Amino acid sequence: MTRESAGEPGEDGTVSVVYDLDPACTVSDLEENRPYLAEINGIVDYGVFVDLSESVSGLVHESVLEGTFRVGQPMVVELETIRDNGDVAFEPAGIDADDEYTLESVAHEYDLTGTNRLEAAVGEQIHLEGEVVQVKQTGGPTVFHVADEYGVVPCAAFEEAGVRAYPAAEVGDIVRITGTPEHREGSVQIEVEGLSKLDGDVETDARDRLEEALEARAEPHDVEPLIDWPAFEKLRPDLEAVARRLRETVLEGRPIRVRHHADGDGMCAAVPVQLALERFIADVHEDENAPRHLVKRLPAKAPFYEMEDATRDLNFALEDRARHGQQLPLLLMLDNGSTEEDVPAYETLAHYDIPIIAIDHHHPDPEAVDDLLDAHVNPYLHGEDYRITTGMCCVELARMIYPDLTDELRHIPAVAGLSDRSKADAMEQYLALAADEGYDEDRLKDVSEALDYAAFWLRYNSGDRLICDLLEIDTNEDHHRDLVSFLAERARASVDDQLEAAMPHVEHERLANDAHLYRIDVENYAHRFTYPAPGKTTGEIHDRKITETGDPVITVGYGPDFAVLRSDGVRLDIPNMVTELEAEIPGGGVTGGGHLVVGSIKFVKGKREEVIDALVEKMAAADIDEELSSAAPIDD
Ligand code: MN
Repeated sequence: MTRESAGEPGEDGTVSVVYDLDPACTVSDLEENRPYLAEINGIVDYGVFVDLSESVSGLVHESVLEGTFRVGQPMVVELETIRDNGDVAFEPAGIDADDEYTLESVAHEYDLTGTNRLEAAVGEQIHLEGEVVQVKQTGGPTVFHVADEYGVVPCAAFEEAGVRAYPAAEVGDIVRITGTPEHREGSVQIEVEGLSKLDGDVETDARDRLEEALEARAEPHDVEPLIDWPAFEKLRPDLEAVARRLRETVLEGRPIRVRHHADGDGMCAAVPVQLALERFIADVHEDENAPRHLVKRLPAKAPFYEMEDATRDLNFALEDRARHGQQLPLLLMLDNGSTEEDVPAYETLAHYDIPIIAIDHHHPDPEAVDDLLDAHVNPYLHGEDYRITTGMCCVELARMIYPDLTDELRHIPAVAGLSDRSKADAMEQYLALAADEGYDEDRLKDVSEALDYAAFWLRYNSGDRLICDLLEIDTNEDHHRDLVSFLAERARASVDDQLEAAMPHVEHERLANDAHLYRIDVENYAHRFTYPAPGKTTGEIHDRKITETGDPVITVGYGPDFAVLRSDGVRLDIPNMVTELEAEIPGGGVTGGGHLVVGSIKFVKGKREEVIDALVEKMAAADIDEELSSAAPIDD
């Protein structure tokens, strides 16, 4: 509001209010019996034409005029009528433009069209307000992805081929767009005619409105868990918080990168979450390519976040930001990511705005990682253990994000549990659930074997479609059955070949605590660079030896600079053993970890004998489990 004091106060001594239309105002902003400040833009025999804004102008008829006029002269007018043909007529408001009055500006009342109503508005000009979540410069237009209370829509603005349109508008800005929704390659896109960055109160109001809507839409679905399992209930609030955060991330148009352990449980965790995110993104985004561009799933060979993976992920994220104007991603670590070994990789990412969430069931080091994580879900943090596998957690997580997936996921927790050899009481319920879907235990084991085998050959590829076929999610059954049987058979044949070569070289001794110790040099007495890898080879030898001799059994498969450990019926604490070895063998370069009784250790080649001797000593001193069958997950 401005105050102008030109000339004398009005006749009755009071100061009147005159309204000044913003240049963007249209006829719809006019109100009857209101004085508006206008400017004469033309004089004709039958009157004068006045402008009130860029698009509002009309005639003041000579019959209501007195005196002389010139172009450019201000005049205070009010609305007389809007004719059927759209012509607008004004009349003098009885206030002289030279009088003293208070000038009050009128902003254009935008009739906003939400992204939920675009389809109905195709071909018509609309206004839209939202936050810019991505700015992609193409060889043609600049494409702004704009998020409002309902979704995200691409808005193409053309300046010149390959030239950035509206360079002042950036990711994070609140903008108002005037444009026309059009169909483009199966999606709706807005052809931009005008784009302005909001500021001041208008921006604050819009931001508050968007934030409130986002919060409501991020709310995870309240789904009944697939089975009744009190131990699992402790993790549900944590999983709900992660579901909320992931939905929020989708609504903000931020990419999500999933890194998961490249084994059966890891894939049973990652694939359902990937699908849930993709389907939610498809609902939120008008751009049909958005699911593909915003979620990337990649396996991690080690049970921790390796620097190689982290630096690659970071580099991809920075390239996507530079080339596609994307925001930096949120990183979701699955069946992986909760130990001290993850710290260097996390610290690398911490130099950038990349939030990290880990859902894992490996024995965690919360003191080491929690400061670096935005959220950490792990059964050990609630007094539970590895038996609640990451796949079991993530099936529930996926359902909280996108419950319509439920019917496709009922058999997945059973596959996850069998893959990691979970001895959870709940396995019976999960197996029953899978049986209702036509999966008997043999078929579930086949799926688990086939997954393992495929993961090995996929190496650093995600194998999106192939894994979906193997898990029978988002696919038809024909491929699934044949492929699973074939790969499971191939996997077993490869294991047999490997063990035929390795078994004669397995060395046996009886430890002081009466445990059987089996050792195998997997570097020299097993095939290399083929399936099964050293971890799985050691596990298979271990299983056969348990059948032969019974508990307690420890098996060590070692190479030049690593050892893989499996144990049953012995109370090992591998993470703790690693910490002790680190201190006791200077220059041994000992690192490693994993689950309590299953894990792997690395060391420098020249110290192998010393490290393994010390390791065996610790195993010989370990307590024997009194229960017949201990809880030994398989994992490598
Ligand atoms: Mn696992």
